Amino acid sequence: MQLSRSLLTGVLLAGVLAGCAPQQAPAASGPPTPEVSAPADKLMDDVRILSADDMQGRLVGSEGGAKARVYLLGRLAELGVAPVLGGALEHPFQTVRDGKSLAGVNLLGLINGTGGSNRALVLMAHYDHVGVRGGQVYNGADDNASGVAALLSVAASLKRQAPLHDVILALVDGEEGGLSGSRAMVADPAFKPLLDRTVLAVNLDMVSRSDRNELYAAGSFHTPALKPHLQEVVVSAPVTLELGHDDPALGKDDWTSQSDHMAFHEIGKPWLYLGVEDHPDYHRPTDDFERIPEDFFRRSAKTVELVVRMFDGRLETLANESVGGGK
Ligand SMILES: [Zn+2]
Repeated sequence: MQLSRSLLTGVLLAGVLAGCAPQQAPAASGPPTPEVSAPADKLMDDVRILSADDMQGRLVGSEGGAKARVYLLGRLAELGVAPVLGGALEHPFQTVRDGKSLAGVNLLGLINGTGGSNRALVLMAHYDHVGVRGGQVYNGADDNASGVAALLSVAASLKRQAPLHDVILALVDGEEGGLSGSRAMVADPAFKPLLDRTVLAVNLDMVSRSDRNELYAAGSFHTPALKPHLQEVVVSAPVTLELGHDDPALGKDDWTSQSDHMAFHEIGKPWLYLGVEDHPDYHRPTDDFERIPEDFFRRSAKTVELVVRMFDGRLETLANESVGGGK
């Protein structure tokens, strides 16, 4: 069986992202040794599995949400991501939705940095969606199985080549209908020591579809120090990376309060949101896996990785340039 184009791309990318580690030369005689050490590329599998009908739209407090969580715990274990609070990846919280008290669960993990710094970067994406309505499953493939899949692919890369700074991974529950998971996380006293050393929170929400080949980076209006660093990524990004959607003067096109980065905004922490503009399937039962263009999604996930790697490398600089950035 031939390697599929996507698998081949994944393996090649893995090589590039591993810092161009020297490839083993094939032996002079016999066939080349197959590459067995590169972790399998699961970007498309992750988004497909999380947005399948049996996840029932992943509503906070639902069976579908619990099923998604089991899958994600398996993926985090597979990647070797360590728990960050109290020895468990699960971070439970209570939320109220439609007058009912519901149990939400964030998943929080850590990838250790190797640079000897205490500063950290948060990388987050919400895994919940809006569930089943009128008998129809709202699969939330772009919103936000895509952000979760992109986060896991960045995590896999950071496990292959460690970051300089600690990266706190937050798979957040209860974003839909009130940002309850991210707000519970930043309000939890147990999370405070992590928050104190967080310089920047990067939020991924809807990163897989754009007819215009665009991914937006919002947040530099509020933290201008982000701008020159982001502009360097703009030059090399494999999608069109646009800065914007963060000025209050834009009214409803200001996305500052539109996703979990708002929880960090509310406590004065620098944040960066990466995502696409709304599309006709946004919050409709047609937000399906089949509508995700693989080519764009792969380039978008790669862009996310470039942004995360760049800020990991600049975290000390950014902490000195921006207000409120860690110790
Ligand atoms: Zn969302």
